[in-house]
Amino acid sequence: ITIPQLFRETVARFGPRDAVIFPAQGIRQSYYELDRAVDELATGLLALGLEKGDRIGIWAPNCHEWVLTQFATARIGLVLVNINPAYRRSELEYALNKVGCKALITARTFKSSDYVGMIRHLAPEMETCAPGRLRAERLPHLRHVIVTGEGAVAGAHLFSDIRKLGGPAQQLRLPVLDRALDPDDAINIQFTSGTTGHPKGATLSHYNIVNNARFVTDRITLTEMDRLCIPVPLYHCFGMVMGVLGALSKGAAMVFPGSSFEPDATLAALSQERCTALYGVPTMFVTLLQALETAPQDLTAMRTGVMAGAPCPVDVMRRVVRDMHMPEVTICYGMTETSPVSFQSFVSDPLDKRCETVGRVHPHLEVKIIDTEGRIVPQGEGGELCTRGYSVMKGYWDDPEKSAEALRGGWMHTGDLARFDADGFCAIVGRSKDMIIRGGENIYPREIEEFLYGHPGIADVQVFGIPDEKMGEEICAWVVPKPEGSPSAEDLRAYCAGQIAHFKIPRHIRIVEEMPMTVTGKPQKFIMRDRMIEELS
Ligand code: ATP
Ligand code: MG
Repeated sequence: ITIPQLFRETVARFGPRDAVIFPAQGIRQSYYELDRAVDELATGLLALGLEKGDRIGIWAPNCHEWVLTQFATARIGLVLVNINPAYRRSELEYALNKVGCKALITARTFKSSDYVGMIRHLAPEMETCAPGRLRAERLPHLRHVIVTGEGAVAGAHLFSDIRKLGGPAQQLRLPVLDRALDPDDAINIQFTSGTTGHPKGATLSHYNIVNNARFVTDRITLTEMDRLCIPVPLYHCFGMVMGVLGALSKGAAMVFPGSSFEPDATLAALSQERCTALYGVPTMFVTLLQALETAPQDLTAMRTGVMAGAPCPVDVMRRVVRDMHMPEVTICYGMTETSPVSFQSFVSDPLDKRCETVGRVHPHLEVKIIDTEGRIVPQGEGGELCTRGYSVMKGYWDDPEKSAEALRGGWMHTGDLARFDADGFCAIVGRSKDMIIRGGENIYPREIEEFLYGHPGIADVQVFGIPDEKMGEEICAWVVPKPEGSPSAEDLRAYCAGQIAHFKIPRHIRIVEEMPMTVTGKPQKFIMRDRMIEELS
């Protein structure tokens, strides 16, 4: 099945129901209305001369245009390239040229970013060219820049105009193009979060992501009666696959509380739109819980959701169940390269299993845990998690070396360390890159983080290793204190003493205001590591 096939099925079954809601912009579309808007955009893109297989980038925070673009590009077989809204000029240049984007859809400005200004800087030729006729030295593949919002921009098309460009000629082509789509076609290039370094472009097919979206929403028993709140970025698989395609696969409504994550706007949307489900990474839930303490909201319609993307502290999970009315919240584990989810809890799993593990494997996937020599380890032991099956990406775009390293015999080598219990529940113990080896002792940062979370004055803590001449590696902890707490490094060391093994007590503790994060809300330990090394040298 392709994305347009899934789309048609849903429109036929649930046409009059709410599809896309941006409460702050007053946008509310039913599946029927969404279908019409997507058709307009798809025919407009054809009128520009874009053809099946062409890459088209989108560089914008969450917005209505993003959702339209996702479906319109799929309808005519364009390969959508998700570009991180936090990218700057040089990263944009790299991404566009790496995958050879012929068109780029962009917002004008967002927060401190002047997107149009950055594109103009890379392509000054825009000033004098007609829209669609760009020939820029530094962006040799790019022909079309499409800008959202109002007011002409030299050398660029307006998004709203594209929707009016298509005519009967393009309309007639839609069914023909539809038949030419193959579920195995590359439809999407998604960059990974960049938690461990440079993001990598995973190439995914209709088949990959449509099926994963269905299985994820099966597990949270989503139906057309649900209203799913999506504060996670659309540029990432969490938003565009688990969120948009997941809601589509069940005919549920998608509620977007804002262009980027804001706790107050999210809570307001949950209560005003009577949402029943919510997605987020753990840090988002932490800030939502904090905001709820000062400004309570009516969340009684809530039921379920997904917390994923990074380790979820057990205590946070318990508070989400209790304080956010999410008795059926699930955890899942996945990665961009596997479309993304491969493990997820069932809503009926006992709460401690949902807190302590990432649940059981998704249907139609094989998994194994191997040691450093590639041998499968006995059940109960830890090692690198590998997954194989329908959801594994085609490869990293134009990067045979990295692809061959990650994919061996169809197995995706995740770089994550995991362990199974006797009932088939999987626990993620950390990333192999993050494991600390101090004096020959293997130390999992997660364990120390969980312990420190128990301290009442700590809002967030990240533990990582840095090279050390004597011990091989030394343990560092970065701590964000709660406003009322503010423990000192000495207090924290005293808190550890006698409670965890002496060799696990962080040697270097820094109290910081915030952690370096990816836009997907994940702490970037490689940046913390670099800063500590610099500071200590
Ligand atoms: P990059 O590959 O660019 O360094 P990334 O791996 O963070 O970034 P993503 O594909 O967004 O990019 O994230 C997948 C990773 O997130 C997994 O490999 C895993 O390390 C982590 N992860 C996802 N879900 C969970 C979870 N439930 N518990 C622990 N870790 C998780
Ligand atoms: Mg990764």
